[in-house]
Amino acid sequence: MTSTVAKGTKLAGKVAIVTASTDGIGLAIAKRLGQDGAKVMISSRKKEHVEGTVENLRKQNLDVAGTICHVGKSKDRESLVQETLKTFGGIDILVSNAAANPVFGPILDTSEEAWDKIFDVNIKSAFLLCKEVVPHMEARGSGAIVFVSSFVGYAPSELMGPYSVSKTALIGLTKAMSPQLAGMNIRVNCLAPGLIKTKFSEMLWKNPNTGFQQDFLNSIAMKRFGEPEECSGTVSFLVSDDASYITGETILVTGGIPARL
Ligand code: NAP
Repeated sequence: MTSTVAKGTKLAGKVAIVTASTDGIGLAIAKRLGQDGAKVMISSRKKEHVEGTVENLRKQNLDVAGTICHVGKSKDRESLVQETLKTFGGIDILVSNAAANPVFGPILDTSEEAWDKIFDVNIKSAFLLCKEVVPHMEARGSGAIVFVSSFVGYAPSELMGPYSVSKTALIGLTKAMSPQLAGMNIRVNCLAPGLIKTKFSEMLWKNPNTGFQQDFLNSIAMKRFGEPEECSGTVSFLVSDDASYITGETILVTGGIPARL
């Protein structure tokens, strides 16, 4: 089903890159930034996902283009940036949303290969994409970056240990980059979602009547899983002028999961 949305003006004139934006939280963020007036470059690994998403969002009167980008591949990151410059003439906003989690189980069972994949995709590629994008933000005179972490970055999951540590590292990367980038008028912040209903997390929410899922639900103050759209307004706020004095911060959007004081 498609709907026609009226564009807002909060992000008018801004150009945004959102990685992993053909499904789930990334798609909801891309859509919301577009609804708030930004031009958005959609990207993910699969051509058919990119093409389908661009077509769908254009039907909703959003100003979007798309390109393939596996964030772990340096050539793809370069072409994501070059395609955005070519299509929209600059870059103001980067939302680094892509993540991998190839393993579930006790942390000591993690192979070196799985560990490397998790840290390559979740952390290293986020940092390298920033390095690629920052000079273009500097050329525009300002910019805003948001990393997508997770509540498990604060409260590590026993069955997703390396993934949790990579998400903690993103919270650290946000803090570590903010002073240098502030000198370039670029803010860098982080979103830490709770349990959000996407493909990535479906084993946790698809059959909420089993004991396993019920335990997760019970740990949420609001006693429900979140929708991707419930993450997107926070990102739109963080990249807008309403957040002009916020940098180096992480905002939890969890429905009240106890992750930190
Ligand atoms: P999702 O619904 O499974 O969406 C995955 C998206 O990522 C798809 O567009 C997929 O498209 C793309 N993708 C996968 N690997 C990629 C890669 N290497 N490079 C580029 N794109 C890639 O996932 P999600 O739940 O929205 O997760 C988004 C972010 O939120 C992740 O950082 C995740 O860690 C975080 N998060 C999720 C939850 C949750 O409960 N869902 C909670 C906390 C944090 P292609 O297949 O075409 O590549």
